[in-house]
Amino acid sequence: MNDRNTAADALVLFGASGDLAAKKILPALYALERRRLLPSLVLGVAKSGWNTDDFRNHARTAITAHAPHAATEDVTRLLGHLSYVDGDYREEATFAEVAKHLKGSKSPLFYLAIPPSLFATVIEGLHRGRIDKGGRVVVEKPFGRDLTSAQELNKIVRRVFAEEQIYRIDHYLGKEPVQNLLYFRFANGFLEPLWNRNHVRSLEITMAENFGVEDRGAFYDEVGAVRDVVQNHLLQVLAILTMEPPVRFEMEAVRDEKAKVLSAVQPVRPEALVRGQYEGYHQVPGVAPDSRRETFVALRTQIDTWRWSGVPIFIRAGKQLGVTATEVLVRWNDPPRDLFVEPVRALSNYVRFRLGPDRVEIGLGARVKENGEAMSGRLVELEVDRSSSDEETPYERLIGDALRGDPVLFARQDAVEASWKIVDGILDERLPLYLYKPNSMGPTEALGLTAAYGGWYDPHP
Ligand code: NDP
Repeated sequence: MNDRNTAADALVLFGASGDLAAKKILPALYALERRRLLPSLVLGVAKSGWNTDDFRNHARTAITAHAPHAATEDVTRLLGHLSYVDGDYREEATFAEVAKHLKGSKSPLFYLAIPPSLFATVIEGLHRGRIDKGGRVVVEKPFGRDLTSAQELNKIVRRVFAEEQIYRIDHYLGKEPVQNLLYFRFANGFLEPLWNRNHVRSLEITMAENFGVEDRGAFYDEVGAVRDVVQNHLLQVLAILTMEPPVRFEMEAVRDEKAKVLSAVQPVRPEALVRGQYEGYHQVPGVAPDSRRETFVALRTQIDTWRWSGVPIFIRAGKQLGVTATEVLVRWNDPPRDLFVEPVRALSNYVRFRLGPDRVEIGLGARVKENGEAMSGRLVELEVDRSSSDEETPYERLIGDALRGDPVLFARQDAVEASWKIVDGILDERLPLYLYKPNSMGPTEALGLTAAYGGWYDPHP
């Protein structure tokens, strides 16, 4: 078995000619090479009829499209690492060829940037070709389509790799502002006494996108908002927000706490759910003309632990909304009595995390008095703006971690299954679906979910 801390001595990229490789993985490899963190062999495998020179040319184009100012010497050094095997994953000869390139490698990292329908084929090919030994495998999302398929997929991967050799990638966990959530929670003592059912009134996560699915209608129509972002990204964010402090910041300790809290989240009931679809979705190329796929979802759940029991948790995600922003809002209780007579009991008493994509902020909301005789005030925010342009991209961070053998930011199977259990009952396309206008904040029916708790907080543009 592979020692999880052994650095990988080769990277094998299945899906080397695909969309994800061009958009994310190859630019991340360039960034890693700039810091001299890549192994000397990076082997691309696909069936495009390419040779190594073609792969290098493709990589150069992909890198310069994403990093126009890439330093020539770093690109040249990266290209020097690249080799390519052309072959179909369904043929044993492909793996025999990969094996030849891996001679001498003791701890290769296999990256499966391929359609999920091919995961089993490639994993079994690695095993039959006897190149799985000592290796680790990175599996791209989605990890299953529901609880049952996630369990089946896991069985296939586990036939060949042990849990500690499996790196289930959720690029959201590689994002700097998401890691900062974890840091902010556990690096500041002042938060802990307030971070529980005694003080928190509600917890809200919104992931809004001001664009539709135009360029990937066929893909999205198979998936929808719950599978695309709620089951993975947003439930991971929820886990970070609500988990107990890990005993130490290391691999399993953090993942244990995340899995524990996710297993205590109540499965979402259909009556605590509003599914929406934006007007015009049916006209998107690739979308079925009678599709009932949700492009918006709003839901309420709870966490059955001593810390969180009874605190409503609201999650909302959608396309073609009025803004592009991902925000978390934790509202604390109002003062027990209204001493000051103010026309509207507006939003106050909260901490807000903006996780991007354009800005990263932490805002602490409180009310202060307006000048004048009246004892009335307004909301102010103590705000920290953490925007920065020279952060590592999530793929750079995660591929770097996988190469080093650090799985802390990858999803463990128990957490993946716990997340599927939370949403398994709301994947049914026959559940009610409400139309909404592009540029709105979703169907008006969603307002009812939060009405008793001060309404939804809509992120600012
Ligand atoms: P693509 O369809 O663009 O790429 C698929 C890759 O697999 C190509 O390199 C293709 O090679 C190769 N391939 C397919 N079938 C075979 C075969 N039988 N033998 C050899 N090679 C084969 O997919 P994406 O890059 O879009 O997605 C890859 C994975 O990443 C998927 O699991 C997806 O869900 C996930 N993902 C993708 C994202 C994206 O933005 N694209 C975002 C997040 C996750 P060839 O071109 O030579 O046929």
